[in-house]
Amino acid sequence: MGKGGGVQQLKMIPKVDKVLEWPAVRALLECHPRPLVLKALRVVLDELRAAALKGALAQDAFGEAALVTALTRELERLQAPSLRRVINGSGIVIHTNLGRSILPEPARQALNNIAFCYSNLEFDLALGERGSRYSHVESLICELTGAEAAIVVNNNAAAVLLALTALANGREAVVSRGELVEIGGSFRIPDVMRLSGVTLKEVGTTNRTHPKDYRGAVTPETALFLKVHCSNFAVVGFTAEVSAAELVALGAECGVPVLADMGSGNLVDFTGKLPCEEPTVQEFVRAGVDVITFSGDKLLGGPQAGIIVGKKSFIEPMKKHQLLRALRMDKLTLASLEATLALYRDELTALREIPTLRMLTIPYPELAERARRLMRQLRRRIPAALSLTLVEGFSQAGGGTLPLLNLPTLLIEVRREGLSPNDIETALRGFRVPVIGRISKGGFLLDPRTLLESDLADLAAALTSLA
Ligand SMILES: *Cc1c(COP(=O)(O)O)cnc(C)c1O
Repeated sequence: MGKGGGVQQLKMIPKVDKVLEWPAVRALLECHPRPLVLKALRVVLDELRAAALKGALAQDAFGEAALVTALTRELERLQAPSLRRVINGSGIVIHTNLGRSILPEPARQALNNIAFCYSNLEFDLALGERGSRYSHVESLICELTGAEAAIVVNNNAAAVLLALTALANGREAVVSRGELVEIGGSFRIPDVMRLSGVTLKEVGTTNRTHPKDYRGAVTPETALFLKVHCSNFAVVGFTAEVSAAELVALGAECGVPVLADMGSGNLVDFTGKLPCEEPTVQEFVRAGVDVITFSGDKLLGGPQAGIIVGKKSFIEPMKKHQLLRALRMDKLTLASLEATLALYRDELTALREIPTLRMLTIPYPELAERARRLMRQLRRRIPAALSLTLVEGFSQAGGGTLPLLNLPTLLIEVRREGLSPNDIETALRGFRVPVIGRISKGGFLLDPRTLLESDLADLAAALTSLA
């Protein structure tokens, strides 16, 4: 149809006042706020106008039935929450874009207990007077890590900021050139140091730093030796790093305390469970590191939080620091963190109950069996036009942790005649419960490692929508 047809069609679009009189729309006004209905109606009519201008609409597109259907759908879209559950089929366990770690089951009860009731958040029940929110997890963290004192803030970035500000503001901190890292989301060690009012003294080279480099950098202005976990990259080949224990010895020799940003915050010994080495917080405490910071939602597998542990004389000033108020964690985080940490009292319980740890350490035969079972379950629920096949591949830890770790997995490849892997990816991402997979070697793949038992029905529905 030509331009004339388009203008002709424009005339057929009903007026807003008219539409609001229709019984079906009056019914919508009964159960939705009027401004919202008007907003949705404008969107629908604008779309209709745009389509009409192209002259590409069928007669019944302007009718009451079609319009009310479109209006109802738009109202649903406007009222749907922006933050939604998705199905993680990417195989990236600590997926930063998908919420990093998911909480262990006991955290559900803890959240339920605290979120909808009053609590003793800042009330000392024994003394009947004001208490501290930081007291709830301190002794548990000390018990688990062997540290003298602990404090928890909003995230590890905040923990580093607070520790640097409280311990070295207006003075210098010495850092190896191999550890001046940028974490995703533009957290850069040199920038955080500047923000904390700490002068950065770089020592060594990108690949090799020696004790003498630190020693040579000490001046009367030196407040800290800072050690930073490389997190999302690795230096391999001709390398030399000063270990935490060596740095502690150097610190004792020079009268300089040691601060370590451990990044992901690992509390379990992965020997025999993961083909990689990751230092534990306990090791660093035992080595005598004065202050250690780490995340709550990376390898620890809890809520977003920044945990600071260390010697009392260094943690106490942080508890009194003005900055703490701006970085403080809320009660829901505290509740779910306490529930997560409690699982670490028994390492096997932690490995079994904390999803992040369970997904990372599940033995391959078990994972492969799960992939086969999942495929059988899906086949029963989806149309025959979809083909599912198992292919070998690898999963990743993600979240800027264990960057060299490639965990063998058995992936489910999804194919549909007439759809490219990109088409499948787009359609599944747009489903009511979005499904996130990955495209590799020309196929669309789902990794059972990060899929949950509770994902099955929605995953099947999403796949069915492809056929
Ligand atoms: C991830 C990370 C951070 C930031 O931690 P958040 O909890 O994301 O704020 C800081 N330092 C290192 C070394 C990290 O790996």
